[in-house]
Amino acid sequence: MRPLTDFVSRRALGIDASGIRKVFDLAAKMKDPINFSIGLPDFDVPEAAKAAAISAIQSGQNRYTPTEGIAPLRERLRKEMSAEFGRDVGDVLITSGVSGALLLAIMATIDPGDQAIFLDPYFVMYKHLITLAGGESVIVDSYPDFRFRADRVEKAITPRTKLLMLNSPSNPTGIVMTEAEVRAAVEVARKHDLLIISDEIYEPFLYDMGDATAKTGSGSRPQLPSAARSYDNTLVLRGFSKSHAMTGWRVGYAFGPAEIVDQMAKLQQYTFVCAPSPFQHAALAAMDVPIDQAVAAYRTKRDLVCGLLQRRFEIAWPQGAFYVFPKAPAGTTAAEFATKAIENNVLIIPGNVFSERDTHFRISYATTNEKLERGCEILCGMA
Ligand code: PMP
Repeated sequence: MRPLTDFVSRRALGIDASGIRKVFDLAAKMKDPINFSIGLPDFDVPEAAKAAAISAIQSGQNRYTPTEGIAPLRERLRKEMSAEFGRDVGDVLITSGVSGALLLAIMATIDPGDQAIFLDPYFVMYKHLITLAGGESVIVDSYPDFRFRADRVEKAITPRTKLLMLNSPSNPTGIVMTEAEVRAAVEVARKHDLLIISDEIYEPFLYDMGDATAKTGSGSRPQLPSAARSYDNTLVLRGFSKSHAMTGWRVGYAFGPAEIVDQMAKLQQYTFVCAPSPFQHAALAAMDVPIDQAVAAYRTKRDLVCGLLQRRFEIAWPQGAFYVFPKAPAGTTAAEFATKAIENNVLIIPGNVFSERDTHFRISYATTNEKLERGCEILCGMA
């Protein structure tokens, strides 16, 4: 008889999820940990969005939607994004979260052997999705400050390079690309004819931006520097998981070159089919809910955590998202430090989950100020 493992594809075996699994296994053994590992907001879905979801379910919006998403949500997003980017951004595709958009985008662009470049540290999904598509990840070191350096990126470009993937604000570093860095990235992409995929899922969480503001349905907010403003060959991915604490509702969206977005829609037809119908209606309602208070609360938490940690740890000060990526103390790997932190009841994620290096660790500060203070005190005591 054929052993069952024989049925597993090389594609599946090519993906190594052991880093994350190890953290989950350790976490499962902890009683009431101070949990700095969770990549989602600690506030709940806005009431108006919950009401819209319930009402959508009760009024029978429970069937497939068009593959591209419901028209009112697509139109609203197209209008707001066009206002923010100062040009018509074209058709918006509603996806099953930004994860769904990433899978479709990679499937739509990467052929076996094609290369995609992104900075190290990186959002872990990029590497695995590119492997799934038969492509090759070219990972460009951005330590110690995690800034975009055009020279380092340019050195990594080959005739096989197709994609430049940007993530700002970044998971796991919280770094936000400046206008100058975005300009440099666009220059490189233009010179070498690359498609940029700009993962902007943390876009609302910006803490130190200047006067530039973007008008939205719920007011105005700081404007994220984005390659899409000056480079047409940019595919932008955004979503509602982080902005409105809807990680379980699976709604994201993509816009950019029609040639790519159309292919993504075709692939969605045979994979996800559509994003969940009631939650598309809820996302539309969520667009009217201001989130400034949540953003202000996270800014305070950022200041609190980084203020405490920087006394003992080397930190690249984050300007967005809800993460900070401090350096583990000299003489220990991040994995060792994370294990020790977990023994002290603080759950952090070792950097090797997001990086080719094992020198830093990720903290998500989306938790109560009281837990942040206690947790940081414990970590500082270990350094
Ligand atoms: N991109 C980044 C950088 C993320 O951190 C995440 C979620 N952790 C995603 C994409 C995917 O988010 P979702 O699928 O929930 O929209």
